[in-house]
Amino acid sequence: MPRLNNKIALITGAARGIGAAVATCFIEQGATVIITDKNAEEAQKLCDTLGDRAYFHLLDVSEESHWQAVEAFVQTEFGRLDILVNNAGITGFLETVGPHDPEHLDLASWHTVQRTNSDGVALGCKYGIRLMKASQAASIVNISSRSGLVGIPAAAAYAASKAAVRNHSKSVALYCAQQGYPIRCNSVHPGAILTPMWDAMLGEGEAREAAIAGIAADIPVGHMGNAMDVAYAVLYLASDESAYVTGIELNIDGGILAGSSAAPKSS
Ligand code: NDP
Repeated sequence: MPRLNNKIALITGAARGIGAAVATCFIEQGATVIITDKNAEEAQKLCDTLGDRAYFHLLDVSEESHWQAVEAFVQTEFGRLDILVNNAGITGFLETVGPHDPEHLDLASWHTVQRTNSDGVALGCKYGIRLMKASQAASIVNISSRSGLVGIPAAAAYAASKAAVRNHSKSVALYCAQQGYPIRCNSVHPGAILTPMWDAMLGEGEAREAAIAGIAADIPVGHMGNAMDVAYAVLYLASDESAYVTGIELNIDGGILAGSSAAPKSS
């Protein structure tokens, strides 16, 4: 039995990487999926491969007017939303001039990262709640990061934005419960998932392979994760199997956050 039968789902930043994996997984599990991204060409291409339960809508998550257009589209086409995955996010390394360390940070670059990662999720929750009140059982899944739980000296804006996502998810969870809305909200915290987001940091060819091996050496399970590892966690939180789960944070990080550094080795 598919786990998302009759569910209407919307995913942001779904053209590639984790968002595309979640979209593919949701389609396989019976959902109708609205694939959104600011990269219209790539998102439409993915949509075309997923069959007649996949829809595309342009959405830059940092633009409230885009969310208003998406709200009107979902309302008209489906009359409600059951699942929202606020996935779109940027590191700021490619999109801004930086730097991003706490001592030298460039304020405009800092704001650019917050606008997509933090404002984008807040707007998503705002419009998601409006559409989900008509659902029987709805779920918002916000993609934070391991970086939302620990400091990242060279990516302070990204880390702060992801900490905001973690905390806002709990406010949304409690607010919806207080209001008696049928809406749960949880955050997912991936770490070291090999997607195009890493391309600029890894280089190419042998340098890329060496960089990946270097990262893997610091991960307890010994390798980077893949997008489907995250998609399966999102599937659980999106489905009614997690009906009693709200306000939690779920780490998908190969054990990084379990705390493996500076510990004595067992003999
Ligand atoms: P990718 O960079 O591979 O994909 C992100 C997608 O989001 C791209 O299609 C991108 O479009 C789109 N996007 C960027 N900005 C916006 C915006 N303002 N509005 C709408 N779409 C946008 O990233 P991942 O798949 O790796 O990451 C997905 C999420 O997971 C992000 O929130 C990320 O921070 C988080 N995450 C990822 C980790 C990892 O190791 N990969 C670890 C921890 C968290 P475009 O091509 O136009 O930029």
